[in-house]
Amino acid sequence: MIIKSAEFIGSAVKPDQYPEDNLPEIAFAGRSNVGKSSLLNLLTNRKKLAKVSATPGKTRTINFFLINNAFRIVDLPGYGFANVSKAESQSWGNMMETYLSKREGLKICVLLVDSRHKPSAQDVQMYDYLKYYHLNGLVIATKADKLSKNELNKNLSMIRRELDMEKDDVILAESALNKTGVDEVLASIDRIVNISSEV
Ligand code: GDP
Repeated sequence: MIIKSAEFIGSAVKPDQYPEDNLPEIAFAGRSNVGKSSLLNLLTNRKKLAKVSATPGKTRTINFFLINNAFRIVDLPGYGFANVSKAESQSWGNMMETYLSKREGLKICVLLVDSRHKPSAQDVQMYDYLKYYHLNGLVIATKADKLSKNELNKNLSMIRRELDMEKDDVILAESALNKTGVDEVLASIDRIVNISSEV
């Protein structure tokens, strides 16, 4: 798939702020600083579509991007900040749960994890949650440039095991720095959007 157009269409913290039409959506979630903005910018070939976080914890909204006038990429707020108040983390949880459990057009929520590390307890919890809502299926291991090929392969198996990924779930390695893995991610997105438009 080629992304010909990508346009930011709005931010939301509650459902009445979501776009109203029923276009298919693909959401992206992950720990803050995992490389989500960098990936979204790379996928859409836009330097500043998603804001690369200078201050972790700044983006606390759900951000919608219209792609090729056909589907939306949805950038979910990151988790795992230090020094987050209980109230803040609760409002993050409510916002995520409302979106993930109720959004009609949502086809999948891609989980980003750092290829270098064992998934955190929150990553595992997030993936369990996605499985519960049948939104699992694609994990992207970011910052693959930091590892040798051997280390990367070893870690991809480790991540698959730690997240208890299902048999048909796919894990892809990606590097925004080296621009590797983008074609594979786009092919997966293509497959998801096409499956969804056939339903
Ligand atoms: P977000 O908080 O998940 O949106 O993460 P960002 O995209 O803002 O990236 C967080 C940090 O990781 C930034 O300093 C990026 O430059 C860096 N980063 C993102 N992707 C990569 C990558 O593929 N390789 C390397 N080495 N660094 C990356």
